[in-house]
Amino acid sequence: MEEDQSYRCVRCGTELGKIISDNLLCVGGLVLTTAHGFCAQCGRAFHYTTTEKQLEQLIAKVLADCESYCK
Ligand SMILES: [Zn+2]
Repeated sequence: MEEDQSYRCVRCGTELGKIISDNLLCVGGLVLTTAHGFCAQCGRAFHYTTTEKQLEQLIAKVLADCESYCK
């Protein structure tokens, strides 16, 4: 199992969320492919985007899972 990785503010190091499998960003109860905002502690802007390649891999995986469920 992959370990969770913290996604931190580059300025102050505050944990903004967790990078979970397939490079998705988990913040609270949300799993995000893109996130843009500001650190609540220092105001530093952050931009997180799951790359298109990673999205392609995720979609392929979901489709494969779907096929196996439908059989
Ligand atoms: Zn910060």
